[in-house]
Amino acid sequence: MSALPKPTRKKKANHSRKKATNERRQMEIELEKLLSAHVIQRDRDVCNWCGKTYIRLFGAHVLPKGSNPRLRFEPFNIMALCYACHLGNRGWHKDPMRAREWFEGKYPGRYERLQIAASCAPKVDLPLLLTVWRDEVKGVLEK
Ligand SMILES: [Zn+2]
Repeated sequence: MSALPKPTRKKKANHSRKKATNERRQMEIELEKLLSAHVIQRDRDVCNWCGKTYIRLFGAHVLPKGSNPRLRFEPFNIMALCYACHLGNRGWHKDPMRAREWFEGKYPGRYERLQIAASCAPKVDLPLLLTVWRDEVKGVLEK
């Protein structure tokens, strides 16, 4: 008597969910890129913290995007910083208290407005935001 092959239990494939997650991720990446371009232009290609120009700049969040997901794509919650000022030793994330104090001095009222917005901003509508920001930033990226 030959042994029957063991029945293989098929793992339930959930490709559609995986695909949706991936699509969402792609939209988030594109939106962050568009918003960074917008914010860097708005901030006149100058690092907010050290004032350097002719340096590669990044869009840095004022209120962390992890704990404030509804402000992740809010341009007033993003500012242009160079790498050293964003993630380096003298950077924004090294001493949050000092960073906040500095920010409040530079942009009076903005930190508080962001905190209020963090609790009442509408849920992020990625496809809608992308449509808006693709139009808004098109000119910036073509330069
Ligand atoms: Zn800098």
